[in-house]
Amino acid sequence: MAPELPADCDLLVAGSGAGALSAAVVAAHLGLRVAVVEKEPHFGGTTAWSGGWMFVPRNPLARAAGIDEPVSEPRRYLQAICGPQFRATHIDAFLAHGPDAVQFHLDRTALRFVDGNSVPDFHGKAPGARNGGRSVCAAPFDGRVLGSHLARLRPPCALWSFLGISIGGDLRHFLRAGRAWDSFAYVTRRVLRQAWDRLRHGRGTLRMAGNALAAALFKSALDAGVSLHERHAVVGLLRDGNRVVGARVRGPDGREHDVRARNGVVLACGGFPHDDARKAALYPHAPTGREHWSAAPVANTGDGLRLGESAGAVVDTSLAQAGAWAPVSLVPLPGGGVQAFPHLVERGKPGLIAVDRDGRRFVDEAGDYHGFMRALFERCASAHPGQPVQAWLLCDHRFQRRFGLGHARPHPLPVGALLRSGYLRRADTIEALAAQCGIDAAGLAGTVARYNQAARDGRDPEYGRGDIAYDRMQGDPEHHGPNPCVAPIGPGPYYAVRVVPGSLGTFAGVKTDEHSRALGADGQPVPGLYAAGNDMSSVMGGHYPSGGITLGPALVFGYILAHHAAGRPLPMPGVADGASTLSPTAAEPRPRTVPA
Ligand SMILES: Cc1cc2nc3c(=O)[nH]c(=O)nc-3n(C[C@H](O)[C@H](O)[C@H](O)COP(=O)(O)OP(=O)(O)OC[C@H]3O[C@@H](n4cnc5c(N)ncnc54)[C@H](O)[C@@H]3O)c2cc1C
Repeated sequence: MAPELPADCDLLVAGSGAGALSAAVVAAHLGLRVAVVEKEPHFGGTTAWSGGWMFVPRNPLARAAGIDEPVSEPRRYLQAICGPQFRATHIDAFLAHGPDAVQFHLDRTALRFVDGNSVPDFHGKAPGARNGGRSVCAAPFDGRVLGSHLARLRPPCALWSFLGISIGGDLRHFLRAGRAWDSFAYVTRRVLRQAWDRLRHGRGTLRMAGNALAAALFKSALDAGVSLHERHAVVGLLRDGNRVVGARVRGPDGREHDVRARNGVVLACGGFPHDDARKAALYPHAPTGREHWSAAPVANTGDGLRLGESAGAVVDTSLAQAGAWAPVSLVPLPGGGVQAFPHLVERGKPGLIAVDRDGRRFVDEAGDYHGFMRALFERCASAHPGQPVQAWLLCDHRFQRRFGLGHARPHPLPVGALLRSGYLRRADTIEALAAQCGIDAAGLAGTVARYNQAARDGRDPEYGRGDIAYDRMQGDPEHHGPNPCVAPIGPGPYYAVRVVPGSLGTFAGVKTDEHSRALGADGQPVPGLYAAGNDMSSVMGGHYPSGGITLGPALVFGYILAHHAAGRPLPMPGVADGASTLSPTAAEPRPRTVPA
């Protein structure tokens, strides 16, 4: 099914997540002959397991809904959040060309979006924050249009899907199916469709969220004539002097082929989630790298960063945080080992608290996952130096059955196996639960009593749960009470799950300029080398202003770099927004091939 690997092309792209495929698709539309090589048997990377949200302020969907803020507003917000790490050149390029990047995909590709017009920024009290209109998500994608190519796409992650069903904006139905007829009917329909799809196509065909994003970009790449090769890993870069002129690619039979790329090579291997050496070097809480658990696929082993360094590019170590932190619990796998389950949903629901080994809370649990982990790092460093970084999410029986707790799903799904494996802890009293978890029992009992007292009035004076719009979006819209994020912890039995340091992806990457050109130690571009997605050092400087700040920039800088590689000027953004920061004349001279 896959075409033969070409011996030469214009643009060679390593990896097949959002960073890779957006660059590949746009470059192909601009007339370049593009080849994509993916190390894994499937295309899509972490992108295909993600939520599919992309932070792109002033995007066309927001504007169509009348949300038309000046570019100075998101810029002000990003400046406030990123502080000393604010990168004006990159942020200005991102804000200037983001809307066009979304429009380009709408006009020319199979990618469709749903709006994020009511999705708030993470830091609702910061200057320039908005309560919606700065993000888009991939719209559901009908995988049947991929035909036999659907088998080449990474399936949804088994750990956070249900019976292999790809879940996205319809998550609430899966959470309510045990207690609401409309949701039960909805989930039943999806289960039946899944069963039928499996009989007919061997797999589910309705793809949502990040799987829809990967599917739509993959389809767009096929449509645009991109040459796509799974089971092919880039293992080295070809150089002519200091210029990168192609790559050495290892095929499924172990043989290596040189692929020459006239206009450049794009590193888009998804950062370093499973590179222990790099984690040890850049994650202060993980001295051997193994004290950190990423939710990304295991094939993301940091190849792109190493390849970049081999050609003289430098990895940016100046970020505020080197990873996109998230609390994860470790789910035992049937064949042995564990997989990291990111806690992105239930922390904001009313009736859950997170505590350290003293039984003390340390954060507004409903807040963003990155902030949760930063608070835990601080607490552990100050109160428990030298001890493993960990916390427990704790709730009562009603909560667990209503919302689930990590991988322990809500009613009517059973939790017995997770109790037996030790993943989920249960006890009749708070003190007994504390003893099971190794938490200070008196400390925990005091915390629960204090929390409950204010929670009865829907208040959280200690940490302000529910004070900002982001928290409330994560809460329970059906909660009877003044605060959708706060309810007392009621009668037992009680449940707890241990969470440890984890991440959704990595922030530190190859240093680039605002065209995504990899930079060397002298600050000059390494000719012929680009970095995209998480192989490109995060333009947010290691901060997490809003959901979608990896996939949004991945899409936008894929679009920007494709123009640069093709020697094409970027369309000028709207005059009202000021001139483009990316003058076409800034492009380095390079051989032009196959102009459109
Ligand atoms: C549960 C979850 C939810 C998330 N939700 C969101 C969200 O809603 N919004 C958001 O912005 N971010 C989200 N993220 C983070 C986001 O998914 C990642 O940051 C993003 O997908 C990274 O994209 P990428 O293109 O850099 O890499 P990836 O999508 O990881 O793709 C990299 C690809 O490169 C391949 N590769 C590696 N080495 C080589 C090599 N040597 N040669 C060839 N190929 C190679 C890998 O196999 C992989 O397929 C989420 C992450 C998780 C785990």
